Amino acid sequence: MTGSRPQPRDDLRALDGYHSPQVDVDVRLNTNESPYAPPLEFVSRWLDAMRDVQWNRYPDRAATDLREALASFLDQPAARLLCGNGSNEILQTLLLTYGGAGRTALMFEPTYALHAQIARGTGTEVVAGERAADYSIDPADATETIRRLRPSVVFVCSPNNPTGTVESPATVERLSAAAAEVGAVLVVDEAYGEFAQWSALELVSEDRPIVVVRTYSKVWSLAGVRLGFAVAPLWMIAELEKVLLPYNLSVPTQLAGTIALEFAAEMEARVATLVEERGRLFAALAASAAVEVCPSGANFLMFRVAGDAHALWERMLEHDVLVRDFSAWPRIEGCLRVTVGTPDENDAFLAALGEALPEVVR
Ligand code: PMP
Repeated sequence: MTGSRPQPRDDLRALDGYHSPQVDVDVRLNTNESPYAPPLEFVSRWLDAMRDVQWNRYPDRAATDLREALASFLDQPAARLLCGNGSNEILQTLLLTYGGAGRTALMFEPTYALHAQIARGTGTEVVAGERAADYSIDPADATETIRRLRPSVVFVCSPNNPTGTVESPATVERLSAAAAEVGAVLVVDEAYGEFAQWSALELVSEDRPIVVVRTYSKVWSLAGVRLGFAVAPLWMIAELEKVLLPYNLSVPTQLAGTIALEFAAEMEARVATLVEERGRLFAALAASAAVEVCPSGANFLMFRVAGDAHALWERMLEHDVLVRDFSAWPRIEGCLRVTVGTPDENDAFLAALGEALPEVVR
């Protein structure tokens, strides 16, 4: 190249990107997807609907049918909904709107790595708050942190990825009050909300600065589609709409999201199966003296290994089982995370663990 190579923004140079290895193995329990394909009937309804599309036209910018169907499913007004390409696009839109240069986003570590990653991409400074020993957020401590740091955006991931921790309604309300005091937005990331006992959706109202973010990637078995959404007060939706790219949601995505809702009963049955399997995996892990497992309200379990966790991850891979390696992550050193799979996949995980664990225990 002649001349000098264009350089990214100074604040982006130190970024490392997002890494979660996609390895081709039989049992993939590393990215918290649904282990089940969507129902065949859903796929044929979707393909049929696509035959009638006017492909030369842009999609409905407001995603009206999808938002109305979703609103009635969630029992929320459609005007409180904003849809995006995965909840990641929604998180990015939130940060573009309420973060940016000179502003900060607070997140309680350890949590979903992309909160910090997307914040940095939008020029937002990232500040870390701490969690209690059981990985829950201590509301008094968090309130003090919010008052002291005065962030523009506060992230709460509940159930938290990767620990599985569910925050109580009282904690979320206290965080919302603290956020309101300093003029911050409280983002409740509920990517795994359907697996938990309660949802912060019930707290969304015009007089709280709360936005709840959800996804079709997990329970709806549609990670391949990329569809997520926010439920927020109208005044916040109005601001987010100014920033979201026009026609962001393709016609196939809008159709998939609308038609999927007709299969709510199947999805609820899958959630029930996965929650039951989570219980079985939890009990098996808790029974091992060499493992400490974290209670989880999500479709995954994080566990600490009394030994070399990275070596365990490698040995599991030799048994064709891929889990997520958090062994070198600050605050969760020595931990791995397993996504709840089908009963057969979970059996394969437990069998591989049974063989590999004794080889790495100290
Ligand atoms: N939030 C959390 C906590 C997640 O774990 C994930 C996916 N791993 C996302 C958001 C992003 O999901 P989506 O596929 O909807 O972009």
